[in-house]
Amino acid sequence: MTGNQEYAQRWQGSLMNNYGTPRLPLVRGEGLKVWDADGKQYLDFVGGIATNALGHAHPAIVEAVSKQIASLGHISNFFMAEPTVALAERLLQLFGRDGRVFFCNSGAEANEAAFKIGRLTGRTHVVATEGGFHGRTMGALAMTGQPGKREPFLPLPGDVTHVPFGDAQALAAAVTEETALVIIEPIQGELGVVVPPAGYLKAARAITAASGALLVLDEVQTGVGRTGHWFEYQAHEGVLPDVVTLAKQLGGGLPLGATVAFGRAAELLQPGHHGTTFGGNPVACAAGLAVLDTIANDGLLENVKRQSEKLRDGIEALGHPLIDYVRGAGLLLGIVLTEPHAAKVQQAAQDAGFLVNAPAPDVVRLMPPLNLGDDEVEALLQALPGILDRANGDG
Ligand code: PMP
Repeated sequence: MTGNQEYAQRWQGSLMNNYGTPRLPLVRGEGLKVWDADGKQYLDFVGGIATNALGHAHPAIVEAVSKQIASLGHISNFFMAEPTVALAERLLQLFGRDGRVFFCNSGAEANEAAFKIGRLTGRTHVVATEGGFHGRTMGALAMTGQPGKREPFLPLPGDVTHVPFGDAQALAAAVTEETALVIIEPIQGELGVVVPPAGYLKAARAITAASGALLVLDEVQTGVGRTGHWFEYQAHEGVLPDVVTLAKQLGGGLPLGATVAFGRAAELLQPGHHGTTFGGNPVACAAGLAVLDTIANDGLLENVKRQSEKLRDGIEALGHPLIDYVRGAGLLLGIVLTEPHAAKVQQAAQDAGFLVNAPAPDVVRLMPPLNLGDDEVEALLQALPGILDRANGDG
């Protein structure tokens, strides 16, 4: 039995099968490279589903986390530690606004807190988008617009209306004086990197402002540099959200989420309303600070834009019959296929030593670390024609 086979047997006997797919056992990572239990090397263009902002085992994260855990590890919510305050201050600086941060451990939790903030307005109605993804806990799931994920758990916390994503008219029709909040992802990541039409976020801001509803932007997937901006909404003129939720790349691989609220939204959660034991723990926050420092010091926002353009142009220039076009922003890219062969591309890529992801039957998603290098982009572009041929049954 090989190392991979041995792992397969073990996980099937011990882990819940949440994702329904055979899992590749990975035993080590360094930068973009990861190795499986058979010693095979891959380039990881999934980046832990956008969590590994700096790749695997980045020295800045290793050092920050090691130093922190060696001095002051987890403390209870009744105390405070330097990295937690420093990370909140740094985030507010990047937003360029006064506000307050609630730290938690995941994207779902960040959205749960936003859901509660909405209830504290005294209104209950929520408007969310079809195809949207906000997490698997019950409040986050109530806002998630994917029927297959919702149905086994009905009834979910009520009073949520789902409207087509990117349709400002539908949004305007759904939002009333009873609406507590509207939650939108600037780009829908989970159903295949869906980009709304220009002006959509600005319209959403105007609609919510007019009705007194809070505008919550779920930047769990798009935030913290992923799209070449600190936060994707900053690329859209005239959009100042009331709440932004973050997770994924914020912790650089450690579990860290944040709900950042501005203006009156920042005052709604009062002592006793909400909390979580590990939220804001100094070790995860030290990792978060290392992520933000490295993005700033190494010019990674620029790198994201540069590598994004090279990937986009390079992939489209292949002129492969299986490729329609590339969409997305920064290093959150969807390769839209002409046939529903994304799962086959994922497998062919894995065989060829590249990890990619298939969020929709006809979309292959790339979300590599923000410090992706020229050679790595080149390696994927070189290998892609062969991978696509094999997925197309021509290889
Ligand atoms: N919101 C968005 C936009 C996401 O992409 C995800 C995760 N894919 C979540 C929320 C949930 O995050 P988590 O898995 O950390 O709970």
